Amino acid sequence: MRFDVITLFPELFAPFARVGVTRRAFEHKAVDVRLWPLRDFTEDTYRRVDDRPFGGGPGMVMLVEPLARALSAIRADQRAAGGPCLPVILFSPAGKPLTQPRVEALAASPGAVLLCGRYEGIDQRFIDAHVDEEISLGDYVLSGGELPALTLIDAVARLQPGVLRDAASHQQDSFSDGLLDCPHYSRPEVLDEALRAQLPGADPAVPPVLMSGHHAQIALWRRQQQLSMTWARRPELIEAARREGRLSKADEQFLKTLL
Ligand code: SAH
Repeated sequence: MRFDVITLFPELFAPFARVGVTRRAFEHKAVDVRLWPLRDFTEDTYRRVDDRPFGGGPGMVMLVEPLARALSAIRADQRAAGGPCLPVILFSPAGKPLTQPRVEALAASPGAVLLCGRYEGIDQRFIDAHVDEEISLGDYVLSGGELPALTLIDAVARLQPGVLRDAASHQQDSFSDGLLDCPHYSRPEVLDEALRAQLPGADPAVPPVLMSGHHAQIALWRRQQQLSMTWARRPELIEAARREGRLSKADEQFLKTLL
């Protein structure tokens, strides 16, 4: 799949191509990220990408002209590659909050053009003409759309086949079945004195069921941990899982014991 990113700060993307899961995704060509530095699409000597807002007020607005030129170049490049004309996503606090189902749908799609805003945002006329979807990371304001774009690319990249070392690992992540993830433990099985002093308040031993070797009991314990964690922290997710028919009879019985 392919992402075309329109940005004023392409250098922010390079570090992610060098580490971890995103690096593997780029190396395997599972995700092809093409950066389109907006300043390359200016024609004046000052390479202006922004100007004052009409009507007055603070801040600057991203100009339609360089944006339109960048998008034309992307369209030409997509056509030359024989690919489809990808939808344009704008990152904006006014967008729909990003969710795992949206990430999964995008991961199975041919990709998108990602438009990173800066300053006060971009001229509304460009949005009206070309933006297919607006996505928000949450109810707070960032200084630019680059972190949202990286967030989306990261979330989508780790779902590409062959990118995570263990293919099953994302199936047990938070949200993949509508619930939060269960707690995880690794060595040592019991904390020694020195570690106990450093981890005050923690139970020194791993929950015994995880050491039992009994797969069905371990699966049941994990499911119940997911249910109680989600119930305590994000009760609306339990409601949604119920509406979508994702809760079994055993799940419902366990939830009753929490009341
Ligand atoms: N004036 C705008 C904020 C502009 S912040 C407002 O009040 O809504 C500059 C850019 O950062 C935005 O154009 C957008 O691309 C990005 N951005 C900021 N907060 C964001 C959020 N919560 N989700 C997604 N993108 C965000």
